[in-house]
Amino acid sequence: MRLTEYDADVAAPASEWLALDEAERVLLVEAYHRRLGIDHPQLKLHATLHTVVENQVAAREPEVLDAFARLQREGLTRHEAVHAIGLAVVEQMVEVFKSRTVAGSPPVMPYGERVRQLTAEVWRRSGDRAEEQLTAPGSDTD
Ligand SMILES: [Zn+2]
Repeated sequence: MRLTEYDADVAAPASEWLALDEAERVLLVEAYHRRLGIDHPQLKLHATLHTVVENQVAAREPEVLDAFARLQREGLTRHEAVHAIGLAVVEQMVEVFKSRTVAGSPPVMPYGERVRQLTAEVWRRSGDRAEEQLTAPGSDTD
């Protein structure tokens, strides 16, 4: 079976997800958001983050699978859990970048640990604006 539609609230079979190339995955995620009428200002970037998270799910990364289950127990939809883990992806990227460009930066927390510490509450407080951290580096969104 070839995956022709993405639904963030339903886990796609890993084999079907992994059979697509990266660009196809991003396009399906973009189409999903358009179908739902979600007018995201940075849809390509948002869809790319979804894709990174779904790739980790399909690869069965234990911390990510645990976080998915935990975040949904804490009341997030699957789609929201994708966004929450996407926040951890962005924070990791920003911290790695900072650690390499800002002298005296503290050591970067391993990604698995960051995902383990993620809670629905942390994500809700973030305002679900992970992409803004990438497009406006160095500026806090609060
Ligand atoms: Zn989304």
